[in-house]
Amino acid sequence: MKKHNFYAGPSILPQYTLEKTIEGIRDFAGSGLSILEISHRSKEFVACMNDTIALFKELLEIPAGYQVIFLGGGASMQFCMVPMNLMNKKSAYLVTGEWASKAFKEAKFFGEAVEVASSKDKNFSYIPKNYSVPSDADYFHITTNNTIFGTELKKDPDVKVPLVADMSSDIFSRPIDVSKYSLIYGGAQKNLAPAGVTFIIIKEDVLGKVERPIPTILDYRTHIKGESMFNTPPVFAVFAAQQTLRWLKDLGGVKVMQKKNIEKAKILYDEIDRNKLFVPTVTDPEDRSIMNICFVMTDQYKELEKEFADFAKSKGMLGIEGHRSVGGFRASTYNALPKESVEALVNVMKEFEAKK
Ligand SMILES: *Cc1c(COP(=O)(O)O)cnc(C)c1O
Repeated sequence: MKKHNFYAGPSILPQYTLEKTIEGIRDFAGSGLSILEISHRSKEFVACMNDTIALFKELLEIPAGYQVIFLGGGASMQFCMVPMNLMNKKSAYLVTGEWASKAFKEAKFFGEAVEVASSKDKNFSYIPKNYSVPSDADYFHITTNNTIFGTELKKDPDVKVPLVADMSSDIFSRPIDVSKYSLIYGGAQKNLAPAGVTFIIIKEDVLGKVERPIPTILDYRTHIKGESMFNTPPVFAVFAAQQTLRWLKDLGGVKVMQKKNIEKAKILYDEIDRNKLFVPTVTDPEDRSIMNICFVMTDQYKELEKEFADFAKSKGMLGIEGHRSVGGFRASTYNALPKESVEALVNVMKEFEAKK
């Protein structure tokens, strides 16, 4: 039976990426060596790293003055690297979910971190509006897509202080205006590559402004200078990211991808809204994520959640259990997920409804 991969991360990758990765494991770039065993300083891998950076710049239309670097440590390590490198005294955070809360917590180690707004009062089911960012903050941190709660900040905010964003789960899903940001980071394992590599897009002029000493390996400047080769980069994951970006470019880039993602998300949200058994957890359509779609059963049918989960699994729907802090279900509809998988899930929801 065909399996449909709705996992939130690590998550579905394009078939193209899987096939090219298998080829690269056998023989990387005609080197006669596997990507798993080749030196990161080989000319073949240096070319792969440079091309991956070039594809990042091209597909996201990254303006001059920005650098793209690849590190280990996950998005979670950026929760501390960002304040360590960018915050002298004060920073501001929009607390829109679990990852945003974790980022906010780390910032407090380095100075005064201000929560400008939070949606915790309603279990992070919306994006706060009408907040104001202190003008003396060294930066303002947002999480554009809240992977666990299924909300998304789709408009690049206009703020007067440097803007920093965790885009782990919606990078490359839609066009962004990079010029509005000073730093964008994320783990690759949602929309780009297997786990192991973290991308950072950084505007160079925000660096070098803090007074604290920064350990060498945690200083962004080290990795800019070292062209992501200060120490051994996650070679395999970078190679896989290159394949995904080639696939995305071939498909027409982020604008085309956004159209596909909106279409997929609409098919599922429409069914959640229509089906008598289910309700979405995010009610304002403007705040609904096009990457992670969360829904629960209505109070009347609540006790059927386990039965539906088992039924869906028996039909090949994998990874739709909601995160424990939301319950119910979450279907992640990342770039690589085909429309057919969303349609298959919708059919399973209809079939289950008809039995009730
Ligand atoms: C998954 C995720 C993280 C954590 O990423 P790691 O690479 O596991 O540290 C952080 N932020 C967001 C928005 C995520 O979706």
